[in-house]
Amino acid sequence: MENGKNPAAATTMEKIVSLAKRRGFVFQSSEIYGGLNSCWDYGPLGVELKNNVKRAWWKAVIQERDDMVGLDASILMHPRVWEASGHLEGFTDPLVDCKNCKQRFRADHLTTKTCPECGGELTEPRNFNLMFKTYMGPVEEQAAVVYLRPETAQGIFVNFPNVLTTTRKKLPFGVGQIGKSFRNEITPGNFTFRTREFEQMEIEYFVKPGTDEEIHARWITERLNWYKQLGINPDRLRVRPHEPDELAHYAKACSDIEYYFPMGWSELEGIANRTDFDLKQHAKYSGERLEYFDQETNEHYVPYVIEPSAGADRATLAFLIDAYHEEPDKDETRVVLRFHPALAPIKVAVLPLSRKDELTGVAKEIAQELRRHWMTEYDDAKSIGRRYRRQDEIGTPYCVTVDFDSLNDKAVTVRDRDTMEQVRIPIAELVPFLREKLG
Ligand code: ATP
Repeated sequence: MENGKNPAAATTMEKIVSLAKRRGFVFQSSEIYGGLNSCWDYGPLGVELKNNVKRAWWKAVIQERDDMVGLDASILMHPRVWEASGHLEGFTDPLVDCKNCKQRFRADHLTTKTCPECGGELTEPRNFNLMFKTYMGPVEEQAAVVYLRPETAQGIFVNFPNVLTTTRKKLPFGVGQIGKSFRNEITPGNFTFRTREFEQMEIEYFVKPGTDEEIHARWITERLNWYKQLGINPDRLRVRPHEPDELAHYAKACSDIEYYFPMGWSELEGIANRTDFDLKQHAKYSGERLEYFDQETNEHYVPYVIEPSAGADRATLAFLIDAYHEEPDKDETRVVLRFHPALAPIKVAVLPLSRKDELTGVAKEIAQELRRHWMTEYDDAKSIGRRYRRQDEIGTPYCVTVDFDSLNDKAVTVRDRDTMEQVRIPIAELVPFLREKLG
C-alpha cells in the first residue's frame, strides 16, 4: 500500500459510475423505463473494453498454451445436470428479512445481529436458491422446468468425454469457456461488481490425482500475473486462501484473487481445487464413464480438476477503476484512464487542427487507413485541447494531429496519453510506429 494509505481511496465508485455513463462505457439497463435493478448495458466504449478483456484472457489461457482448448456450451442444460452438480440442493445463500423495514440481506454478509439499515429485528436465516428457473416449450409445468446456468463450469464437465475423444489431449489439460451465468443474488450492487446476469471466464484444468495441489498453486500464480501484466497496480491485488468453513461443497481448497475496490478488498477470481467431485457426480447421474485412460501407467482414473474462475464484468470494472487517474494540469484537473494498450477501447484518435476541408480530407484518409488495424476515432469538434482531454478520459493511448504543415511535410504529430509528449512522424511511417507502440 502506498504510504500505508489506500491508493484507490480517491477513486470513488461514484466517479467511476459517472464517467462510465458520461462517456458511454456502461448504462443502466432499460433506463427510459426507470432501469432494472442490478442490470447494466455496456455502451460503445464499454463493449470494446470488455471484449478486449475477454480477448486478453482467451489469448493467455487458450491461444498461447498447448494444454488448453476452448468451448462454448449452451446456457440451458438438461435439468439433471443441476441435480448431479448439487446446485439444486445446495446452491443457496442464507436470507434474512428485517421485520421492521422489510429489507432483505445475506446473513453471511452481515456484521451485526440487527438490520444494518434501521436497527430492526431480523428473521431467522432461511436458504434461498440462487438459480433462475424457467420453462422450456409452451407449457408451464413441472416437467418443463429448466434453469439458467449459475456457472459455466458444468458445460465443460458434461463435455469432458467429447473434448477428450476429439482433441486426444493428454493430462494435464484444460478447457476454457467465456459465457453468461445467472444468479438471483439477494443483494446485488456496487455497480457491475455483483449483478444477477454476468459473464464468467472459466477454466477446468484436468490433472492426475496427487498432482493437484502443485498445479493449483501454479494456476494461482499464473492468474495473478495475468492481472499484473495487464497493468493492474500490484499493491491492489492479493491472494486470499479460503478458511475451511468458507469452502464450497465440492472444493478441497480455494484461493481468491482479490482487488482493492473502492468498497474494500473483494473477489475478482476464485481458484478452486474441485477434486473429482463433478466428474464422479455426472458419471453417477448419467451412467456414462467419465474417466481418463493413462497410457503410461495403463490405468483408468477420474481426473482431479483445478478451476480458475473469473468474472468478465468484475475484471472489466477492476481495470476501469485501476486505470482511473486524476492529476493536476495547469489550473485544472486532468482525468486520464491509463489503460494497458491491449485493453484501451480506442487505440488511436485522429484530430485535424481545424475543420478546413484541406485538413479534414487528409485526416479522414489517415483515420480510414488506421481503422484497418485498430479501433480508431476521428474527431474534429471543438478545440484541440478539449479533444485531447476527451481522449485522455476514455484512455486512448495515442492522438494523431493533422495540422497545416502536414500538407507540406506529409507528417503528423503523435501525442502520448501518459507522458503528453508529442513527436513528428511521417504519415507513411504511422502504422509501423503505432504498431510498435501498441504492441
Ligand atoms: P461471491 O462470494 O462474491 O458471491 P462466489 O465465490 O460465489 O462469489 P464464484 O462462484 O467463485 O463466486 O464465481 C466465480 C467468479 O464469477 C467470481 O470470482 C466473480 O468474478 C464472478 N461472479 C460470481 N458471481 C457474480 C455476480 N453476481 N456478478 C458478477 N460477477 C460474479
